[in-house]
Amino acid sequence: MRELLPGLYLLPVPIPYPLKTVNLYLLKGGGEVALVDTALGTRTARGALELYLAELGLCFQDVKAILLTHHHPDHYGLAGFFEGLGARVYLHEEELPRGHRFWVAPEAFEEASWRLFREHGTPEAALLGIREAMTKTRERVHPPRHPIPLRDGEVLEVAGRRLKALWTPGHADGHVAFLLEDEGALLAGDALLERVSPNVGLWAYTRENPLRDFLSSLKRLAEVPAEVAHAGHFGPIGEVAKRAHELIAHHEARLLALLAHLEAPRTAWELSLRLFPQELDAAGRRFAFAETLAHLEYLRQEGEVGREGPPYRYFRR
Ligand SMILES: [Zn+2]
Ligand SMILES: [Zn+2]
Repeated sequence: MRELLPGLYLLPVPIPYPLKTVNLYLLKGGGEVALVDTALGTRTARGALELYLAELGLCFQDVKAILLTHHHPDHYGLAGFFEGLGARVYLHEEELPRGHRFWVAPEAFEEASWRLFREHGTPEAALLGIREAMTKTRERVHPPRHPIPLRDGEVLEVAGRRLKALWTPGHADGHVAFLLEDEGALLAGDALLERVSPNVGLWAYTRENPLRDFLSSLKRLAEVPAEVAHAGHFGPIGEVAKRAHELIAHHEARLLALLAHLEAPRTAWELSLRLFPQELDAAGRRFAFAETLAHLEYLRQEGEVGREGPPYRYFRR
């Protein structure tokens, strides 16, 4: 745990994913305690969080507000747990019919999800692994029952601070970064990460062009008046605009790499194996597939590629 500013603490909590930890931010002031993100519902994460709170003389029940940056399990997983203890939970309105619904009503997207994988060339054996990984994740996610919808530009006054919600879709449809205007600091969630490029995936429940959304969000973040971005994973980002531009350049390079692999028509699954040739577990392959599909659909909307099928094979125009 580290105090970043008076009353603003960084709490790195272990998660059983390749990123190893998720960064939560605790705000304490004005007689209130709030948390930005909650970690995943594992015993290890809950234990780590309990110890951090104890160091500050606090317990779970003292957390009165939860500000979620997005619906991914490592950020949203314990939101329902805190809500059950009396905390109010904020989530961007765009997440409610999509990412949030994906957790509270699994049947809503079940069929569409498997159809999406199959229609884009995913083999049954791979689907089996993906299905198992998802079942395991669902056990660790406790969705909030009554999240309070957040809108772009809304200013929340919690724990003695003013936080402006910036809708920054792409990594998740209802992703928000919270700007502490007075301090010139951004709580960036997963929109900007120090060491890796945040996953941008097209899923059965997402908006139609997540990569286009993400590139616009990065352009917006490059203009944000913040000297530092504290992100959902890894260390702080000192040059916010520079990191945003690096990520834009990364995606431009990946789009070119994808076009280079389209010397013959191929499915999104085949292309994901070429773009991400490293060894990945089922969850990793699932992300690689969704990221490849997001890039392909971006190119299709731009008129650079077409597709035939199902099973859909993409080709260069
Ligand atoms: Zn995320
Ligand atoms: Zn994350």
